[in-house]
Amino acid sequence: MIRYLNVKSKMRNEFVDITEKVHEIIREEGIKSGLCYIYTPHTTAAITINEGADPSVHHDIQRALERLIPFESDYQHKEGNSDAHIKSTLVGVSTTALIEDGRLLLGTWQAVYFCEFDGPRHRRVAVKIIRD
Ligand code: ZN
Repeated sequence: MIRYLNVKSKMRNEFVDITEKVHEIIREEGIKSGLCYIYTPHTTAAITINEGADPSVHHDIQRALERLIPFESDYQHKEGNSDAHIKSTLVGVSTTALIEDGRLLLGTWQAVYFCEFDGPRHRRVAVKIIRD
């Protein structure tokens, strides 16, 4: 079983909290315990788990990535979005989380983020659950 989430980003660089959408899938599938694999099939986006309570954290992560990987540099890729491709590779296109008691086993401050690096766009996130 693979389920898909649709994510509509509004900015070129944006972290979209998809935690509740993933929880909806876990609920709908009736999963109490297992593994949840969250993957985005795009070359200029990523998935990460990080602080969900204070939005200044993902703002700081985005700013740090922008300092590390500037929009303009001596890139060869003609599409003009090499920074987004590099950020996607550094952050990674997937994450795995445990499911316990019908929910992702996240720390108090953790959330699952879809990371947009070349928006705004319509994106997809695949969720594969392996039941215990
Ligand atoms: Zn490109």
